[in-house]
Amino acid sequence: MSEKNTTDLSAKHFSRYGEFLVSFELSKYGWNVYNPMYDEYIDLVIHKHICTVCGKNWNLTPALVCKNCGKDFSKSQKNKIKTGVCQDCNKVQAGNKVKCESCGSSKVVRRPTCDVCKGEIEMIKHKCECNSTNYETKFRTIQVKSSRVEDGKNSYATDMKPKDLIEDGFHFYIWCLIDDNDKAHFLVLSVSDFKRVMGNSINGISFFKDQDRQHFSSKDFGKWAEFENNFSILE
Ligand SMILES: [Zn+2]
Ligand SMILES: [Zn+2]
Ligand SMILES: [Zn+2]
Repeated sequence: MSEKNTTDLSAKHFSRYGEFLVSFELSKYGWNVYNPMYDEYIDLVIHKHICTVCGKNWNLTPALVCKNCGKDFSKSQKNKIKTGVCQDCNKVQAGNKVKCESCGSSKVVRRPTCDVCKGEIEMIKHKCECNSTNYETKFRTIQVKSSRVEDGKNSYATDMKPKDLIEDGFHFYIWCLIDDNDKAHFLVLSVSDFKRVMGNSINGISFFKDQDRQHFSSKDFGKWAEFENNFSILE
C-alpha cells in the first residue's frame, strides 16, 4: 500500500484535522480546549486558570500533606496513606478494618494518616510559587483556518470573511498550515492584527463579498510571517 498523507483527506476531514492539530498545540500551552455544539464562526473555546499575581498556570488539584512532617502524598504517594489509627496502641493500618491488627482493640479511628510519622494528612489548596493564593479563569475563542500547499504552487490560501471579525478582544485566528512534508505550522493572530496587515484591502469589494482569499508563500508565510507560533498573544 502506498503511503498516505493529508492531501488524501477530503476538505471536510482536513478542516477537522486542522482543528485537532490546533487543539493539541494549544494544550501544550496549558489551555483546555472545548468544541462548541454548533459552528457559529467559533471553532474552539479555550480556557485556563492562572495565578492573578504572576500569571503562571494554576494547579486546581489540592495537595495532600501531612500536618506533622509535611510529607506530600499528592502525586504518587496516595496508596501509602494509612486509613486507621488504634486509640489503644497507636498502630496505624491500611484498609477499612475496624479492629486493630496489632492489639485487637476495636477503637480504630478512621483518619488519613501519614505512614512516616503517624500525623494527620490534610488537603490544602494549591499555592503559587509566588505565594499567591488567588487564581482567575481566562477564556478565548478561536477560529481555525487550515490550508495545504496549493496545487502546483508554493503558497497557502485562507478564506477570510467580514463575519470573522469578532472584535471583542477575546477572539483569535489560528491558521494551521500543512507543508509538503505533512508538517504543521501555526500562525496565531488577533482580529486587530489581521486588520492591520490587511490594510486597505479590508475595504475591498472582494472582502465585502466573502470572496477574499489570502494567498501567501508556503516558504516564509509572506506578510503573515510575524505570527508564526505567536501563541503568547493568547495570554
Ligand atoms: Zn503566582
Ligand atoms: Zn508525617
Ligand atoms: Zn491497637
